[in-house]
Amino acid sequence: MKCSKARILLSAMIDGEVSSRERFLLKQHLDACPRCKEEMGDLRALRAFMSLWPEEEPSRLARKPSIPKRPAG
Ligand SMILES: [Zn+2]
Repeated sequence: MKCSKARILLSAMIDGEVSSRERFLLKQHLDACPRCKEEMGDLRALRAFMSLWPEEEPSRLARKPSIPKRPAG
C-alpha cells in the first residue's frame, strides 16, 4: 500500500468508513511505515478531541433530508 492510500484510509477510519479488510491492510502498512503510524497517533488524538464536541447544530442538519446510511455488507 502506498502512503497516500494509507493516509486516505486513516482519515476514513476516523469516520468509521473502512472495512475490516482495509483496516487490516492499513495496519500492515503502519507496522512497516513509522511516518504513517505517527500520523495515526495524531489522528487518534484529533478524534478523541472531536468526540468532546457536541453534535452538529440541529438547524443545519434539518436543512437536508436525512438518509440513513446502510453499512455495506
Ligand atoms: Zn506510509
